[in-house]
Amino acid sequence: MDDALNKAIKLIKESKYTVAFTGAGISVESGIPPFRGETGLWSKYNPEILELSYFYQYPKESWTVIKEIFYDFFGKAKPNKAHLALAELEKLNLLKAIVTQNIDNLHFDAGSKEVYEFHGNSRMLVCSNNHSFEANSINLEELPPKCPKCNELLKPDFIFFGEGIPELAYRKSFEAAEKADVVIVIGSTGEVYPASNMPKQAKANGATIIEINPEKTLFSESITDVFIKGKASEIMEKILIGLNKK
Ligand code: NAD
Repeated sequence: MDDALNKAIKLIKESKYTVAFTGAGISVESGIPPFRGETGLWSKYNPEILELSYFYQYPKESWTVIKEIFYDFFGKAKPNKAHLALAELEKLNLLKAIVTQNIDNLHFDAGSKEVYEFHGNSRMLVCSNNHSFEANSINLEELPPKCPKCNELLKPDFIFFGEGIPELAYRKSFEAAEKADVVIVIGSTGEVYPASNMPKQAKANGATIIEINPEKTLFSESITDVFIKGKASEIMEKILIGLNKK
């Protein structure tokens, strides 16, 4: 692992445009489980609550579970050392942007500024007339929540199954893929499309791919140049120390 770690540190140090691409794995050590796998959220909850047709047909039932997972539970999570290390790398001008599939706000909470939320976020709630509100300004005790301006149903501003990627985040993410000469892929299976195309596109443009994950993924055998096996927080802390030393 030391060899891979040293290679990664050197690549980031010499890079002109490093971008991080993060998935659910980076937030596992903040107490948020991934969706898939044995301990994943879908082993406990039915994913149909995030299907648009179900949501509009049964808003109260859907919102009861959404509130439990994304507001009562995710809402208590704090950034871990991996989120904090990425924020520090940005301050040191060693990281230009983060493309995240996560909706948990932990990169912003850690202090990162240039974050493209590929799947949207749970921070805002929106209605069909495009009025939007900070989730923490809306009373979620009475469900489903209604828009204070037009009384339409409010929906979290992350994408449900079958919804398109937010336009701005999509554009910014693929611009980052064009510019990147190094991409650090952290905690993503590579199974979620089209997000998984971002590091692939960067690789096709000549970027070197560093991957951090306790397990091999779809990226590992296809585009990864330097695989560092381990937990996001441990590895990112070591990378940060290594970069500060050199
Ligand atoms: P995913 O593609 O996001 O994969 C999770 C990956 O994290 C796996 O490869 C796993 O080996 C790895 N991992 C586990 N612990 C880790 C650790 N400590 N450090 C580094 N990596 C670790 O899979 P998913 O959960 O099915 O996600 C599906 C989609 O839903 C993705 O877009 C994901 O980002 C999103 N999601 C977001 C959150 C969140 O906002 N925190 C939570 C669950 C899912």
